[in-house]
Amino acid sequence: MIPSIQSKLPDVGTTIFTVMSVLANEHNAINLGQGFPDYPMSAELIALVNKAMQTGYNQYVHMNGLPVLREELAGKINSLYANKVDGDTEITITPGGTYAIYTALTTILQPGDEVIVFEPAYDSYIPNIEINGAVPVLIPLVYPDYKIDWDLVKQKITAKTKLIMLNTPHNPTGAVLGADDIAQLQSIVKDTVIFILSDEVYEHLIFDGKKHESMLRYPDLYERSFVCFSFGKVYNCTGWKLGYCVAPPALMKEFRKVHQFNCFTCNSPVQFALSEFLRHEENYLQLGSFLQHKRDHLKNLMQQTRFKALPSYGSYFQLYSYSDITDEGEKDFAIRLTKEYGVATIPVSAFYKNGEDNKVLRFCFSKNENTLEEAVNRLIRV
Ligand code: PMP
Ligand code: GLN
Repeated sequence: MIPSIQSKLPDVGTTIFTVMSVLANEHNAINLGQGFPDYPMSAELIALVNKAMQTGYNQYVHMNGLPVLREELAGKINSLYANKVDGDTEITITPGGTYAIYTALTTILQPGDEVIVFEPAYDSYIPNIEINGAVPVLIPLVYPDYKIDWDLVKQKITAKTKLIMLNTPHNPTGAVLGADDIAQLQSIVKDTVIFILSDEVYEHLIFDGKKHESMLRYPDLYERSFVCFSFGKVYNCTGWKLGYCVAPPALMKEFRKVHQFNCFTCNSPVQFALSEFLRHEENYLQLGSFLQHKRDHLKNLMQQTRFKALPSYGSYFQLYSYSDITDEGEKDFAIRLTKEYGVATIPVSAFYKNGEDNKVLRFCFSKNENTLEEAVNRLIRV
């Protein structure tokens, strides 16, 4: 008899990012779907990885990550957010941000726990909650502003609420948390034992002079937080899949129990290279203005089309409404745009458990200017 698997994720299909990238390749379309740059990453960082490999830094490093890299990160966190985290006890290097999020969820959640999730939500969150036997409590970020309705959050909190998940800058909407959001969050979690998981992979990809409202800035929020980051997003090397999680010592101690028998330790030469590269703050501080310029370039070009831009204050992404063009569903329209016009995007309905459809598509603008120009030349015909 052949055994059959009782699926832990019976309702989950293939992630939309893979679906749209495969379709883009099949149809030779310009891929403004999955979020990755098509321009080269830093040659200096590549040279530092080569140097690390040739120097012989090719064996396991400490299971929590290369100590000097964690020290550099602690220094960066202190200078950006005035928070003296200890690299030894509060930072763990992970194989990407997604893994950091999964590990934090697995560390925190018990079956039956409730987790507040704002939709649209990055597509790994809900399956990662459900695989741990916990229950996502979905709160809509209402189109077209996608702001958090904190009164609704208060109403949804129960004795079972274990965790609130946040993402700023936000994928897919490009919304960012403001000081008013932080004040509301502080007053809601005060006197509770609710944890926070804050996905801040787009930490430096923030525009129009907005301040990144990291949980690391606020001691009363940090004391209950797991804060997740991705080097791939900051250094234009999404394929390297390296990230980290920051959490207070008692929380991080438990995170490391899960991490050590799942991954143990990450790629060593990249960690040696990053520990040197990270010392130059211009390597990450210029990212916001670099990407803001790309956001604006795409937005200006898109004025020649019938797509309408929604605001984006951060991330790689901007949403565009196509309600003036057709009332086709988002997924069908995204597929047709890829096949018939040669431009791939992401339907925002993929970020909702129940597939809400506001006729908006997510465009990735972290591309060469000529890629954006060629894409828009195709979209003008739509
Ligand atoms: N969170 C969000 C919101 C993302 O967009 C992504 C994709 N980069 C990740 C987490 C995961 O990052 P990584 O590729 O480092 O796993
Ligand atoms: N974070 C990227 C996006 O939103 C994709 C990462 C992935 O494919 N999982 O496009």
